[in-house]
Amino acid sequence: MIRNASSRKSRRSSSRAERPGAERPRLSQVYRRLLAAYGPQGWWPVTANGGDTPAYRPRFFGSLDESFRTEIALGAILTQNTAWTNVVKALANLRKAGLKHLSDIQGAPLMKIERLIRPAGYFRQKARKLRIFSEHVLRKAEAFSSYLTLPTSRLRDDLLSVWGIGPETADSILLYAARRPVFVVDAYTKRILGRMGYFHEDKASYGDIQRLCMGHLPRRHEIYNEMHALFVAHAKNHCRSKPECPGCPLLMSCRHGGSARA
Ligand code: SF4
Repeated sequence: MIRNASSRKSRRSSSRAERPGAERPRLSQVYRRLLAAYGPQGWWPVTANGGDTPAYRPRFFGSLDESFRTEIALGAILTQNTAWTNVVKALANLRKAGLKHLSDIQGAPLMKIERLIRPAGYFRQKARKLRIFSEHVLRKAEAFSSYLTLPTSRLRDDLLSVWGIGPETADSILLYAARRPVFVVDAYTKRILGRMGYFHEDKASYGDIQRLCMGHLPRRHEIYNEMHALFVAHAKNHCRSKPECPGCPLLMSCRHGGSARA
């Protein structure tokens, strides 16, 4: 059963960053409203055999093969500090050059990787990140899929030990490539839930927000997958840096939207 964010369990587990006494809808209600507004998002987009660009697959939560898992991990690293449209170009270049597996990245000259991923920005740094990540994984396992069978907390710790992999990237790999129930927090999650009154935006840490979401949504990778993608859709459609509150599906339960209405 999903508990309200203002329930007793919530108060026990709340951090100093959470707003006390705020009237907030259950996160499951937020999920349902966003899903009704935007529909299933089909994350993480992957390139099918013979395809040119990563495609979204709404309602697909099945198992993934090695190439899909690898593309998701490479995309999660490449999307740091850049728009997804730029990542798509970099991934297409890697694919056309035959660099589809971590062993390909490991064996390719660094300058070649830099040239291929240039559209994603910070290309020298990101090429090193891809190389270091590939070497790390292949030191531990024969293939990426085997590496991803580690228990979740060990896998997360191990990912975080790799240079260039922070919590958002590690959790994206855990959730989308390994199908583990780990919530991914990004700037959009923080912006939306902060404006709604769940916590003080300037005080809440990554871990605070992740615990809040994982504590109040069913612990299922399908739900976390969809919710993260729905937050991204919502941040692009309504809850932009300058919010478009009229017509927002969360308006009636949003602290910021409510104060704008008053
Ligand atoms: S009402 Fe405005 S601030 Fe609140 S979630 Fe919607 S767009 Fe964002």
